[in-house]
Formats: sequence, C-alpha cells, structure tokens
Amino acid sequence: MRIVAPSYTIQDDLDRASLVVRLEACGRICYKSEELISESSALPFVKKIAEHGHNSVMEMAVVTLAVTCSEKQYESLLLLEPRYLFIDRLEGEVLVTASIRSLRELYQRAAANSVVQAMVAFMVSGHPYLFEGVWDGGRNVDDDTAVGVRKLDLAEVDALPADLLARHRFIGVLFIVNRAVTHEIVRHRPCSFLQESQRYCRYSQDKFDNQVTFIRPMFYEEGTEEFGLWKSAMEDTEEIYLKLLETSTPQAARTVLPNSCKTEIIVYCNLVEWRHIFSLRTSPAAEPSMREVMIPLAAEMKERYPAVF
Ligand SMILES: Cc1cc2nc3c(=O)[nH]c(=O)nc-3n(C[C@H](O)[C@H](O)[C@H](O)COP(=O)(O)OP(=O)(O)OC[C@H]3O[C@@H](n4cnc5c(N)ncnc54)[C@H](O)[C@@H]3O)c2cc1C
Repeated sequence: MRIVAPSYTIQDDLDRASLVVRLEACGRICYKSEELISESSALPFVKKIAEHGHNSVMEMAVVTLAVTCSEKQYESLLLLEPRYLFIDRLEGEVLVTASIRSLRELYQRAAANSVVQAMVAFMVSGHPYLFEGVWDGGRNVDDDTAVGVRKLDLAEVDALPADLLARHRFIGVLFIVNRAVTHEIVRHRPCSFLQESQRYCRYSQDKFDNQVTFIRPMFYEEGTEEFGLWKSAMEDTEEIYLKLLETSTPQAARTVLPNSCKTEIIVYCNLVEWRHIFSLRTSPAAEPSMREVMIPLAAEMKERYPAVF
C-alpha cells in the first residue's frame, strides 16, 4: 500500500487548452486513463463521451459570449429561465457564460429562440463535434432580428469588474484527498464534479502499482500508537480488497475500502461559488482534513483575485 499527502492543483494549464483538450483531460480522471492522452486522442474521446451520454464531462468547459440582441430578444431568453447559465445585461450587449452541456440542453429545449440558436450556431461554427446529436442545422426562429455573438477570451474575462468577474470566471481545481473529504465537497450543488471511479479503477493493475493508495490522516502523527493502528487497518483492508478482486469486480471489491482511500476529484465552478465554499470549508467548524487543503487554496485564490475574495 502507498500513503500520500493530500494536495490540490489549480488547472491553469487547461484554461489555456482548447475546449476538447480540456474536456478529455477532465473526463479521463474517472477512468484514470490519462496515459492514453495523445495529440489526436481528444476528439474521439469527447465524441464517445457525448454518444454515451456521460454529460457531466460536458460541464467541464465554459465559454463566455458577448451577445448583441434587442431588448425583446434578451427578455425572451430570460423567460426561458435557463438553468446553469450566468447572464448579465451590459451596455449594448449581454454577457452569457455557459458550459457546453448547458448550451446543448438549452438548444434541445428551445431551439427556436433566436438568442439560443445564435449562440449554439456560433459554437457549432468552431466546434461542431461538441453539438453532435443536438445541432440540426438551425430552424425557423421566433424573432428574426439579427443577433451578434462574440467569444470573450480569458484575458477579457479576467479584466471584467469584480462583480462580473466573480460570476463569469470559472476555475477548475484538482484535489487529491480522501473519500470523506470528497463526500463533503460534492454537497456544493452549483459546482461540476468529476471523480476517480472505484467502479472502473482496478487497483490490482500495474498502472496502480498493484496497490491501494491511502491519504495520510492529519489526525495521527507518524510513530504514534494511533498511527500504527490506522496503518495496520489499511494494510488489512488492502489485503482483503486485492483478494476479493481475484474473484469479483472492482465495484464489488470496493465495498471494503475505507474513507482514507485516496481519490481524485475535479471541482469546477465560478468565483462566487469558490468564495462560498471557502467561507464554509476554512472555518474552525469545518472538518480538519478539508481545512488542510482549503485554507492554502483560499489564500492562493485571494492572491489571484483580491477584488473578489
Ligand atoms: C461545518 C459543516 C458541518 C456540516 N454538517 C452537516 C451534517 O451534519 N449533515 C449534512 O447533511 N450536511 C452537513 N454539512 C453540509 C451542509 O449542510 C451543506 O450541504 C454544504 O455545506 C453545502 O453548502 P450550501 O448548501 O450552503 O451551498 P451550496 O450547495 O454550495 O450552494 C451555494 C449556494 O447556492 C444556493 N443554492 C444551491 N442549491 C439551492 C437550492 N436547492 N435551493 C436554494 N438555494 C440553493 C444557495 O444560495 C447556496 O448558498 C455541513 C457543512 C459544514 C460546512
């Protein structure tokens, strides 16, 4: 067995990547199949994900669009009560931040809305594969006043005033923590999540070094009697898990795995939600293993976005 410290990584590299590369990098965490990433693997992976309806992967990339439309068209968009989209009326244009999933599903529900259709048509022009099975070439719209759509690049989003920045800037963070911590993190409903799956991952495989990895518990110091007890419980558990895998599937064998088991989770949300998460998860009332990663992460975010945090 292996014991590792908890950690986190802000996914800056994926912010600079194309949408499809970002989606692949996030989606593969479920299967821990990152070793299959190559220069040409992203497109087929994302197509397969879309075909199989693994829609939560499609939440892992957002775009911010500046939409020029009439007041009536703006109101007709709001009347749809679009969920999971962030919409702000600015002088002369409307700012919309939406994930690929939310755009796909909004189009399925309201293709005839002129703003919805214009936004999806704009996205299809650059990334048709993201709307396969959804985009039908466009239909008659309910208002034929021309709608303009432009994508903001990340530097433009980062330059928005604080209140808009907080709503429209999304940040993904990869946490390597124990299962008790991820169980708490996933209670934050406005976030999108992807997590290493104990159903798909078989820790007896070579790529896992044929062993289970556990997170070092911050409660027990190495060398103490308590740490020794914890360690021997993990060793016993690993032995039973590996034995069960000889005759059963990972989803069956995992039923013996404990909270201390290491897992990876990507949390993707806007700065408003990160601010809310930090207010709850860094406070003295929060679980200490949660504070262990959230306190340094909150400090890092504050350094990046002092106007928001
Ligand atoms: C110290 C601590 C102890 C806890 N103990 C327990 C416990 O014993 N048992 C337990 O079950 N949970 C417990 N929790 C989890 C807690 O109840 C919340 O589920 C979790 O913290 C998510 O926070 P949230 O609901 O404020 O916001 P999030 O889910 O992060 O949502 C962010 C914001 O979105 C809005 N929002 C989201 N969904 C809705 C909705 N459906 N309706 C209205 N507004 C919505 C709200 O404005 C909310 O503030 C604990 C949390 C902490 C920090």
